[in-house]
Amino acid sequence: MKSLDDALWALIERAPSPPAVESVALGQALGRVLAESVAAPFDVPAFDNSQMDGYAVRLADLQADASGNTSPLPIGARIAAGDPLTTLPPESVARIFTGAPIPAGADAVIMQEQAALQPDGRVVFSAIPPLGENIRPRGGDLATGQTVLSAGIRLSAADLGLLASVGHPAVRVYKPLRVAVFSSGNELRQPGQALGSGQIYDSNRPMVMGLVAGLGCEVSDLGCLPDRFEVTRDALAAAAQDHDIILTCGGVSVGEEDHIKAAVQDQGELDLWKVAIKPGRPFAHGRIGQAHFMGMPGNPVSAWVTFVLLVRPFVLKASGLADPMPEAVWLQAGFDWPKPDSRQEFLRAWIDDEGRVGIHAKQNSQLLSSVSGSRGLVEIPAKTPIQKGDQVRYFGYPGLLT
Ligand code: AMP
Ligand code: MG
Repeated sequence: MKSLDDALWALIERAPSPPAVESVALGQALGRVLAESVAAPFDVPAFDNSQMDGYAVRLADLQADASGNTSPLPIGARIAAGDPLTTLPPESVARIFTGAPIPAGADAVIMQEQAALQPDGRVVFSAIPPLGENIRPRGGDLATGQTVLSAGIRLSAADLGLLASVGHPAVRVYKPLRVAVFSSGNELRQPGQALGSGQIYDSNRPMVMGLVAGLGCEVSDLGCLPDRFEVTRDALAAAAQDHDIILTCGGVSVGEEDHIKAAVQDQGELDLWKVAIKPGRPFAHGRIGQAHFMGMPGNPVSAWVTFVLLVRPFVLKASGLADPMPEAVWLQAGFDWPKPDSRQEFLRAWIDDEGRVGIHAKQNSQLLSSVSGSRGLVEIPAKTPIQKGDQVRYFGYPGLLT
């Protein structure tokens, strides 16, 4: 038996170096993995500008009377967003709008709510602002040369906005991994087909394909393998020709009908691990030619759990992500688990209204309703009974599925 941590580190060590790099337009870059760090080529914003609709003033020109009002000043300029940089004429103020460049000589902006326009066209202010008030300074967001985004992150919508703000029309990203997905088993039928006696529907393949697509890979649906050695061997060998990673579910236990194991051994190399987690257990990593192979258990919940805890980090590392490890938070248990397993266990769970971890009533490894009805996994350490109020590690799906 291998601990989950050992299995994870062994996998991460085996992950291939990141894929080739390509340049893609910002509009196509959402969710892609950044291949090179990006630095700001200029200060952002590039010029001091107004944070308000109001009046740009030179503080030295403002004198308050006993009532707190300033003596009236004429409007010497009108500056809107997009206008070029100007100079504030002496002894005057400038009407200014949000985003407009602060004229040279001005050192504060007074919001229009604190200004009164007189019939003679001059302006009186009800307060004198501090130096720099309502001015967004040049470089206040980013300074020239500062790292805007680091290589190895997955680009979010906010990141795309940031890249646009420094003028990048395109960005260097890693090519997506090509991942082949197989299910296996003579008992499996496809949705739409009639079920015969003893048969079940192939639920793992659409699930695993969805998980792989969520990681930003190009997924190939290579169908369901029958429990026959030759067919399995030939299908895996063909998939290895044009994929970076081959994923299968089922067929990696020790039974006579588990032909995937033998087929990978025949075509390349295979390590079969018994990972000490529940659900989970049989897990295989191997190579066929240039392609990496990972074999997940057939039980749907086991496949889900091993995907998010083992396959996902491997795929992310191979995709070029700098931080592929699953993220957990410590939370209070809102449940009792008095009879722990001798293996580390992962229950289908969620966070309840009080911020504590709740668990799904059905925890059997065959039952996909527990996965669909959960929002994360909670860890029960091996041989450790849990009582309400204990601290437990919770792995939320939002972090685990992308
Ligand atoms: P195996 O590892 O192939 O012995 O499969 C273990 C269990 O998972 C068996 O009960 C299989 O019927 C079930 N199973 C395997 N593959 C799938 C699949 N793609 N969809 C649903 N159940 C599956
Ligand atoms: Mg099988």
